[in-house]
Amino acid sequence: MRVSQFFLSTLKEAPTEAELVSHKLMLRAGLIKRLGSGLYSWMPLGLKVLRKVENIVREEMDRAGAIELLMPAVIPAELWQETGRWDVFGPQMLKIRDRHEREFCFGPTHEEVITDVARREIKSYRQLPINFYQIQTKFRDEIRPRFGVMRAREFVMKDSYSFHADRASLEQTYEVMYQTYSRIFTRLGLKFRAVAADTGAIGGSGSHEFHVLADSGEDAIAFCPSSDYAANVELAEAVSPSAPRPAPTQPMQKISTPGKHSIEQVCEYLKVPAEKTVKTLLVEGRDGGVVALLLRGDHELNEVKAGKLLQLPEAVRFASDAQILAAAGCRAGSLGPVGLNIPIIADRSVAVMSDFVCGANEDGYHLTGVNFVRDLPELKEVVDIRNAVEGDPSPDGKGILELCRGIEVGHIFQLGNKYSSAMNATFLDESGKDRVMEMGCYGIGVSRIVAAAIEQNHDARGIIWPPSIAPYELAIVPIGMGRSELVKDTVNKLYADLKAAGIEVLLDDRDERPGVMFADMELVGIPHRIVVGERGLKEGNLEYQGRRDEKAQAIALNSVLEFVQ
Ligand code: ATP
Ligand code: MG
Ligand code: MG
Ligand code: MG
Repeated sequence: MRVSQFFLSTLKEAPTEAELVSHKLMLRAGLIKRLGSGLYSWMPLGLKVLRKVENIVREEMDRAGAIELLMPAVIPAELWQETGRWDVFGPQMLKIRDRHEREFCFGPTHEEVITDVARREIKSYRQLPINFYQIQTKFRDEIRPRFGVMRAREFVMKDSYSFHADRASLEQTYEVMYQTYSRIFTRLGLKFRAVAADTGAIGGSGSHEFHVLADSGEDAIAFCPSSDYAANVELAEAVSPSAPRPAPTQPMQKISTPGKHSIEQVCEYLKVPAEKTVKTLLVEGRDGGVVALLLRGDHELNEVKAGKLLQLPEAVRFASDAQILAAAGCRAGSLGPVGLNIPIIADRSVAVMSDFVCGANEDGYHLTGVNFVRDLPELKEVVDIRNAVEGDPSPDGKGILELCRGIEVGHIFQLGNKYSSAMNATFLDESGKDRVMEMGCYGIGVSRIVAAAIEQNHDARGIIWPPSIAPYELAIVPIGMGRSELVKDTVNKLYADLKAAGIEVLLDDRDERPGVMFADMELVGIPHRIVVGERGLKEGNLEYQGRRDEKAQAIALNSVLEFVQ
């Protein structure tokens, strides 16, 4: 591509609203343009990167035997009413009406739609297992859209859903998806870690998240460097990643011995005023365990009757608008099925919503016996993660835990029959009996990956794309193309030869000042750069510089390919 025939629109300065490096660089490099809060246009250069990510994801999903389809972005309310999620999904769901006053939403996730496809199309065990996927636009009305495409409202997700005759088959596909995700993130050239996000009744590996490791990540990950133990400690979305973490306010201690405790007592421990608006909420998690949340909330929350046992979907509606001050009895992901986010804002104590809690039970640093609502045996622990994690023994007993931060780019989950039973997705088994299908779901944040890749790969001059997703592999920067026939002819021939060799070349034929062209090519992160100038050419040389190299080097005219591969 010749720059003169392309659309490059770089900026010297990032707009002030951008906080994160990736957001700044994406705006400066002209990859995206903001249309409104959480809404971005993918400009031509950005789209090239997005498509590369998509293609890697698609190739690996195909390789794993998943089958691509495409579902509507707009989904009728009726489907969501069948599973009960219409009323309880919460404010992240954008609801719309058509001219006949029929209700729809703009899909934040597609379990209902795919389950509808499955119940209509799959009749027999012979059709199972099957794994469908799509790469599609989602809309979530995020409470705080920010960091550009990192947490947008409209974004691109790869979501897949598998259907099975039994649990063993689900576990098998889950394992295949785990391996597939690992391949995808490896091919994308990213440093990542898979972390346990859920155990519970579902089983040992009920859910995993894949995180790109970056200090700016919104999630905290506890991992053990001497084993493969890693878990998301699911800290708050609401905690600004750039803000310094508050120092531990007090050492770990038992709040109490087992028994009943009033809200006032718990509030006193947490040093939060026991206002009238502080309520407890009992939630039945997906794994059947009961979770108690202590919430400080707004109007919606006031409708909650303290101590009432809610089903998870109902609870989310309240929880998503409230501050969760503490939680007990949580297991990983008990509260966070696909599509739901529960911000946890804790002044003094942070609830841990991962299997980390359960896994860490024996280490003696968590608070036992918190049973502040009822005498429910499930309500046992609250962990102050800020005090408890770093340096503590790993739950697998194989070392010491460390903390790092990550960006959630993928999430896989064994759903079981949650959706299939609610929507009656059944099949005939070998003995002719009607049985409910088992289901798994697997998401990848395709557009978020672009930002995450930059977050991990940049320097003061701009983006440094991992080669597999760079918009162009090589930039040719001619010096004095308008003045020198030699430069012009060489550049045109080089451009044609490299293209013929299958290299994606960006030829900066703008005849700008060299400094301007260099800065732009570095900003947009092209992995390889060739400078063609008359002086070098007279000695038969070009100048080569890899994007991570300190200096340029003279190379022979015919040796460019060696440097690119
Ligand atoms: P998060 O915890 O960041 O809010 P999530 O757990 O709500 O994400 P999932 O429901 O697991 O997200 O969706 C699958 C993937 O979609 C996530 O792993 C993430 O990479 C991506 N994703 C989710 N929300 C957004 C968003 N607002 N903008 C961009 N990508 C997103
Ligand atoms: Mg979310
Ligand atoms: Mg999440
Ligand atoms: Mg998730």
